[in-house]
Order: sequence, then C-alpha cells, then structure tokens
Amino acid sequence: MNPSPSFFTWVAQRDAVAMDVTGGHGARFTTADGGEWLDFGSMVWNANLGHGHAGMRRALVEAAERAALVMPSSTFPDKVSAAEALLTVAPAGLRDGKVFLCLSGAEANENAVKMARLRTGRRKIVYRTRSYHGATLGMLSFSGDPRRTPFDPGLPDGVPWNDPYRADDGPASLEAVLRTEAGNVAAVLLEGVVGANGVRVPPPGYWPSIRETCDRHGVLLIADEVLSGFGRTGRWFGVDHGDITPDLLTCAKGLTGGYAPAGAVIASADIARHFDDHVLSCGLTAYAHPLSCAAIVAAIAAYREGDLVARAARLGEVVDRELRVLSQSQPAVQQVRGLGLLWAFDLVDVDGRAVGAPVMKRVAAALAARRLHLHKRDNMIFLAPPLVVTEPEIVDAVGRLRGALTEALA
Ligand code: PLP
Repeated sequence: MNPSPSFFTWVAQRDAVAMDVTGGHGARFTTADGGEWLDFGSMVWNANLGHGHAGMRRALVEAAERAALVMPSSTFPDKVSAAEALLTVAPAGLRDGKVFLCLSGAEANENAVKMARLRTGRRKIVYRTRSYHGATLGMLSFSGDPRRTPFDPGLPDGVPWNDPYRADDGPASLEAVLRTEAGNVAAVLLEGVVGANGVRVPPPGYWPSIRETCDRHGVLLIADEVLSGFGRTGRWFGVDHGDITPDLLTCAKGLTGGYAPAGAVIASADIARHFDDHVLSCGLTAYAHPLSCAAIVAAIAAYREGDLVARAARLGEVVDRELRVLSQSQPAVQQVRGLGLLWAFDLVDVDGRAVGAPVMKRVAAALAARRLHLHKRDNMIFLAPPLVVTEPEIVDAVGRLRGALTEALA
C-alpha cells in the first residue's frame, strides 16, 4: 500500500513514483535517496529561476516575517510593486493596462475568460484542438487535451478550432470559425507557444494575422503565457516573437519561478477602463496574497539581474545544436523543434511510427537511472531547463539522454 497520507496528481495512487526532493541549486536538485538530478523539466515547467535562489529565499523570508494578514480587496506596497513590475515586462501595448493577481495558471485563464465575457457581453470561447489551459472544470472545457476526457462534455460555449498552425492557413480557418459563430464569440484563447501539447512554434506572420482576424471580428485575443512566459522562449512572452499585443495576457509558473503560488492576468487599458464602471465579478480568498506578491517582485528582479531572458535565447542555440547532433546519431529522434529553452522531439520506430507506451516506459526508467528529469508525453520528449542552466549542463543532459535512448531502444 502507498504509505503517503496525501494524494499525488494525475496518477492512480498505486502507480505514483514520487520524488522526495530535498533541495537544489541552479539546474540541479537532490533527492532523499542521495541522488543529484539535472532538472530539464524545470519541475513542472515553472522553476525558471532554478533551485535554491538566494534572492527569492530572502524576499520570502522577509515577507513571512512581516506576517501581513490582508484580504484581496486590500492594497499594500508589494501588491502595487508586483503589478507595476509586471506591466514593465508586458508587451508594449499592455503597459498602460492593469494587473489582476490570482494563484495559478488555470485561474488566470478563468479570470481572463470572465473578463472577456463581461467586456463583450458574449459567451463563446474559441480554443485550439491542441492546447492546454489548466485543470479546473472550466479550463479543461476550453482545452484541446486528453486530460479533459473524464469530464466531458464540460462547460458549454467552447468552440474548438483545429488550427493547422500555418501562417497562410491558420488565420484563414480562424476566419471561417469566427464567421460561423458570428457575433457570439467573446475571445480566442491561444497559448503563446503550445507547450505540453508538443511545442508548436508559430511560423513568421502567424500572430499578426491572428491579431488582425480577431480585430476584424471584434473578438478579444487572450494569450495564455503560463508556460511560454517569463523568458522560457527567449523573449519575455511567446507573443513577443510576433510583435503583437493581446487584449488579455495570462501568466503563472515562471511568474514566481515556482517559489510561491501566483498567477496574473494583464488586461489592456480598454478592458481595465470597462471595469471602472462595471463590477469585476472575480476573486478568491487568497488572491494577491502578500507572499505571492513578494515572490513576483523578487522574481522579476531576478530575471533582470541575471539577464535571464537573453540568456535563454542564447542557450537555446546550444540545445538546438546538441539535439540536432543527437538526431543525426539516433534516427529514432525526429522533428526536433523549439526556441529559447523550450524544446521537444518525437521518438519513432524503424518504420517512422510513433513508439508506444512500453518503449516510453523503458525510456523513463533509463532517464531516471541517469538522474535526468524531463517531461514525456505520448511519444514526445521535452527539454525545458531553468534559465540559469549552463552550457556544460546542457551538453551533460543531452549526453545522459543519448545514453538513455541507446539503452531503451536497444
Ligand atoms: N496554461 C498552460 C499553457 C499550461 O501549460 C498550464 C499548466 O501546465 C496551465 C495553463 C495551468 O496552470 P496551473 O497548473 O498553474 O493552473
């Protein structure tokens, strides 16, 4: 029997393989069995600042010592500073907007959807058939992800869009969806870069066409930057690669580098103004919590001090190089794709077909034996290390990966 008194997420409890993480530094963490791991999954894609960050520790200790007890309708210096800091890194067109502080990525998206509905008076939300926006019942209903299946049909008013993800085709087919749904769509909800569903990098011209299509139909654009934000792709946000401004931008994960629970919605000035005179029907008890706000302020300072966003762009070239060398020597590695420090590839058999679950199980075991933590899904393997990772660590990790694949595919 599993001795743990608490549940583990996304597994039958008997199958849980829980790592007992005891600490870490930079891109490495330790486990209670004495293991030292390379963290190429950034825990759950959120440890962008790495482990054992001294500045984050200091900020959280100071905030805990203040032991401020507030409610979400309060204001206090760290809440103001968190919003101000977030606006300074937001896409240029959102910098005169406003920030709504919450606790997670799913909630950030829930609140953005509520704001879009309240602003437009419409209900429908267009989402990609390949996407993930969070595990609440609401967000699963607007995600194109197998995790929604046990809860289907979910909430009404979601409109799936089979996005071919091409600059020429994508916006044209969005045009068709918006025409069919004429006048009922509040927002199009898109990941800055599709993350857990395969790292799909938008081609040049993609985002400006999406923006133009939304504008023509008077539909709001929500960019979900929960995974792709905070330097993960080598820019502050995924949409920055397309030089566009969404109406609402959501973030979490890297927002505090995982050191405290936090999510945020950045709303345009137009949407913010709407709520000057209309009730903002959003809020949970622990929103804009003092510990979360202190962590946001410290995290944004840490990104700046370490020049981590530019670092991610630079080190992305190293990951690219190493993965391409790997794919040349290991034909099972196909479709290497990514940018910044967000990468994925497919594993295929000798006939070019996706490898099955038994092979992926062997790969997982071989990776664990080499103390390399990274995310795996279907036949995909992802690399997303903390932005503080070093070049030798990238070379080391891809070396471990090569060894694991050689063993598991033999
Ligand atoms: N949106 C995206 C793109 C995500 O990848 C995730 C989580 O992986 C979420 C939203 C949900 O974030 P959270 O787990 O903080 O609710």
